[in-house]
Amino acid sequence: MPFSTLHSALNERAATGLLRTRRTVSSPPSPHIIVDGKSYLSFCSNDYLGLANHPQLIAALQQGAQQWGVGSGASHLVSGHTVAHQQLEIELAKFVDKPAALFFSSGYLANLGAVQALVGRGDTVFADKLNHASLNDAMLLSRASIKRYRHNDVAHLALLLQQSAGSHKGTMTGRKLIITDAVFSMDGDIAPLPELLALCEQHDAWLLIDDAHGFGVLGKQGRGSVAHYFLDNPRIIYMATLGKAAGVSGAFVAAEQVVIDTFLQTARSYIYTTASPPALTSALIASLGLIEQDDWRRTQLQKLIAQLRAGLQSLPWKLHCPLVGHCPPVGLPSDTPIQPLIVGENNAVLELSNALRERGIWIPAIRPPTVPPGTARLRISLSAAHSGCDVAQLITALHELAR
Ligand SMILES: *Cc1c(COP(=O)(O)O)cnc(C)c1O
Repeated sequence: MPFSTLHSALNERAATGLLRTRRTVSSPPSPHIIVDGKSYLSFCSNDYLGLANHPQLIAALQQGAQQWGVGSGASHLVSGHTVAHQQLEIELAKFVDKPAALFFSSGYLANLGAVQALVGRGDTVFADKLNHASLNDAMLLSRASIKRYRHNDVAHLALLLQQSAGSHKGTMTGRKLIITDAVFSMDGDIAPLPELLALCEQHDAWLLIDDAHGFGVLGKQGRGSVAHYFLDNPRIIYMATLGKAAGVSGAFVAAEQVVIDTFLQTARSYIYTTASPPALTSALIASLGLIEQDDWRRTQLQKLIAQLRAGLQSLPWKLHCPLVGHCPPVGLPSDTPIQPLIVGENNAVLELSNALRERGIWIPAIRPPTVPPGTARLRISLSAAHSGCDVAQLITALHELAR
């Protein structure tokens, strides 16, 4: 039976500390959650602003369901596209100061659709080696040729762009797309967007920015990483997800009108899927309002980040990869709510994660292939909903376990 090969593959994963498991949560999103009947202090959510259980968002979703029902009933190009979706897209485009936006059901789908609509055979994608899995899958699916540059290494990217210009002499018609996470999801460091954009200008390329972890957190009023760097350029194709800091679900791509018009024709992950429930858009519009208004949430986050970094300084494990200069080269200390504690070996990080869990603290162990071999880590993520006491409790527990 072919099942035996599945069994042995699973056993092999288990033996190398790589078996993935789920735990089942029985409480709403919060730093204090209940898992298997036991209460935990959690540092694993991407609900960075603490909006996922906000009373105003809950009320908006209820009101949206009253008005629109619970399902959209069809894809956007059939009959699933409502005034509610349209309104949301207008608000999203305005929020990130772009001419147009398209709302997708998830970030994974947005990345698949955007990359595949922009490039194909004969085109070239240049991608950071630590990009999110969805961007990696997207470029494979697009059939464009792929050049991966060392993490945040602008000089390496420049070299690859130059080489590809040389090799295409005479047939310089291929499109070029540079794609990067804005805030790297497992390291928390920020991509050098101004330098990447300068290379786009020089080589007539587009820049697709995945701001899953910057939207709501970075920039004035949480407008994201592009606002953080004060960039404004039609070459930027801006993608952000709405299930993380925005606290709801879905994602969007904002860009020039012609780009969005193109997506509507050819982004398969937009076309061939049922439109998200229109009621979600009510919650999302309420969320945009809170993201814009509530600067105190970002201030609280920065306070907690500083507290954590200061508190963990003397640990044997570091809050960024200690292998700088090695391959793969790795990020700088993070100024974002993603704070990776690099432990190294898979089983060591599992042990640490388990020991924390015994003390009532929940932080997931992130292992290869999600991160490079030898850099297994605890991915600590902070939320404005955490208190200083929560972070102090984590710091104390880690110091005790380090002994
Ligand atoms: C979470 C994430 C995605 C996927 O977004 P979903 O809405 O969860 O599908 C894409 N890119 C990055 C960098 C992410 O962290």
